[in-house]
Amino acid sequence: MFANIIVDITHEKLDKIFQYKVPSRLEGELCVGMEVAVPFGRGNRRTKGYVIGFCETCDYDLSKVKEVEDVSRKGIAIEGKLVALAAWMKEHYGGAMIQALKTVLPIKQKEREKVRKKIRLLLSEEEGRERLSFYLEKNQRARARLLSALLDDNVLDYELVNKKLNITLSVVRALEEQGILALESERVFRNPVHLQFQERGQEGAARGGNQEGAAQGCHKKESFHFTDEQCTAIEIFWQDYEEGRYGTYLLHGVTGSGKTEVYIEMIRRVVAGGRQAIVLIPEIALTFQTVMRFYRCFGERVSIMHSRLSAGERYDQMMRAKEGEIDVMIGPRSALFTPFNDLGLVVIDEEHENTYKSEQVPRYHARETAVARADMEGASVVLGSATPSLEAMYRARRGEYKLLELRRRSMRQEMADVHVVDLREELKNGNRSILSGKLVELMENRLQKKEQTMLFLNRRGYAGFVSCRECGHVIKCPHCDVSLSSHKGGKLVCHYCGHEETRPTVCPECGSRHVGEFRAGTQQIEEIVKARFPMARVLRMDMDTTREKDGHEKILAAFANEEADVLVGTQMIVKGHDFPNVTLVGILAADMSLYGDDYRCGERTFQLLVQAAGRAGRGNKPGEAVIQTYSPEHYAIETAARQDYAAFYEEEIRYRMLMGYPPVENLLAVLISCEDEALLGKGCHYLKEYALRICKNRNESGTKIEVIGPASPGIGKINDIFRKVLYLKSEKYDTLIVVKNWLEQYIELNRGFDKMRIQFDFNPMNTI
Ligand code: ADP
Ligand code: ZN
Ligand code: ZN
Repeated sequence: MFANIIVDITHEKLDKIFQYKVPSRLEGELCVGMEVAVPFGRGNRRTKGYVIGFCETCDYDLSKVKEVEDVSRKGIAIEGKLVALAAWMKEHYGGAMIQALKTVLPIKQKEREKVRKKIRLLLSEEEGRERLSFYLEKNQRARARLLSALLDDNVLDYELVNKKLNITLSVVRALEEQGILALESERVFRNPVHLQFQERGQEGAARGGNQEGAAQGCHKKESFHFTDEQCTAIEIFWQDYEEGRYGTYLLHGVTGSGKTEVYIEMIRRVVAGGRQAIVLIPEIALTFQTVMRFYRCFGERVSIMHSRLSAGERYDQMMRAKEGEIDVMIGPRSALFTPFNDLGLVVIDEEHENTYKSEQVPRYHARETAVARADMEGASVVLGSATPSLEAMYRARRGEYKLLELRRRSMRQEMADVHVVDLREELKNGNRSILSGKLVELMENRLQKKEQTMLFLNRRGYAGFVSCRECGHVIKCPHCDVSLSSHKGGKLVCHYCGHEETRPTVCPECGSRHVGEFRAGTQQIEEIVKARFPMARVLRMDMDTTREKDGHEKILAAFANEEADVLVGTQMIVKGHDFPNVTLVGILAADMSLYGDDYRCGERTFQLLVQAAGRAGRGNKPGEAVIQTYSPEHYAIETAARQDYAAFYEEEIRYRMLMGYPPVENLLAVLISCEDEALLGKGCHYLKEYALRICKNRNESGTKIEVIGPASPGIGKINDIFRKVLYLKSEKYDTLIVVKNWLEQYIELNRGFDKMRIQFDFNPMNTI
């Protein structure tokens, strides 16, 4: 038996994996993640390492392979736990161990060591003066300059000495040797919360905001009482927690029902017990407002991570966590790997968001990975959403998660009034504009009242489905029940099974000639709005207008300051900021997300519509929403208009069951890409043949696996690299893991695949 061991986990050199013999006395005791002592290098220096896996064969000269000396029996350190988590991720999501390790371990970037060097005077004033006159006498100017500066200021920044006083390191070293000064280095950790608070705090004060921001403990709760529903949720969680029954909870509550207050209270109790908490939020929701709510409760003991921090700053935050300087880490998906020594709770807010799924290998989902980490470390997980993912609700219904519900808004505001407009009727009445009569009427009314409107186009990148503007019929795949996508040359293609047909010129349902691709852009809409309401001030937010740094924030801030009457944008305007003066939300073409090319589009549409409608009437004025669609009878639209999650779930899970889609069954996408199209075709063929062979054996032993495709994914070619995708479907996730392992081995052993890149994606969420 051999163990694969990494010796240095803080460096990018991580990819060096060493093999050691496992002596028989340690067999059975060693497991992945364990800290071991191994002889290392020429001198066989006793060195610390971590076990990342085992194998029965060794790739090196057996006589040269050394033996593991010992295991650490102090209990598993945080690094070991993260290594074990990486092993779990490799197994569940595919890819190499090294990729998993790089995902979970805080890795120091070589180039950016953030230390501040300081120079401290060691002499007394008197001794210093004496020395100074000596240097002046000898005409040692540089030394004199340095010493005289130190006499003014006993501690100096090296950087400053070097640049401003023009003194070289050798001069400093010389004085150091003579015992005149000491050169010290100090690790500097920056606290991004603090910085953000200082920058914005002043703004807040200028606007008359309150100044209670500093750490004062959790006194704030005096200002309100938890509702009965909030109390129940907190107590159910807490009773389990206190008795050591750690588990996963799904907190389902409409926006404004007080979920965030519930998280804060749960975390407060966990932290008071001496353990730490991680709060995951979608990047876009990581606003100043959110961070401040945590800062008010946990003060300096909370830190944040986000994509605008440099690699060095992120590393610093990780080290602060490891060294026990903070209790709460807030951040997007990657914050899940914060190296807390005694993690007690992971909160995942807006759990249904697709940003929780990584788009890089390993393509992990933060929800599942959080549950795995919590399981290994004896912690709980709380998932929160107003529109839970089908996965989370399915598991809650089956008893795997505990369901906690908040049915009412904490401040008892009314939900928005939702109108559904049938665009087919608009066409019949001669209105060809993207703005329906109802929407125009309500917008006029808002402009008069000086209230704000948000217009929202839920488009997804390239989605090009074909539909009939008269009857609303959409052309779908006869096998997969997803919309066909329009490709070049008048072809319609299914992105799952590869089914193709020619694009019809008349509607197969009603014979109308108004069939075509559904396309509209935010820029076009901005122009239409400006033409229709010349007096209105219009802002637009999309990929184009947010490209510059902070572009996003700037537009939202301008809108929040009421510098515009109308904000037009893609789904990015739906989340994050609260706009109390927005009382009207228009969803211009609900069909754009409804007829995407994958099985999740009904769910995504429901979530977007409910969240968009939730934007209207956040302040004390009541809100209205208008949903425009060619399919008003579609269950995702009907249930969203009523904000009826339960009814939506029933319909949606029935569809998933019928078609065998997740979460009822599991889907493994094998994405194959290659520069050579012919070679790619061949590779797909062999992979499919091999998969069919494995599946045949499995099917005979009773486990059903289906092989679908290969198909061209949504984007068939990126940077001249061709792509294909093969799907495997099975009821059991574990079965798919076994198949993945076989495929990985097959790919590794066959040189034919060398020129191809093959990636696995379990239960894919984003467009492949
Ligand atoms: P969610 O996270 O579900 O959207 P929040 O926790 O942000 O809801 O709560 C919405 C608003 O209601 C916040 O301003 C919050 O401080 C306030 N709030 C929450 N719970 C209560 C309560 N029990 N009484 C009064 N106000 C509350
Ligand atoms: Zn038709
Ligand atoms: Zn199909």
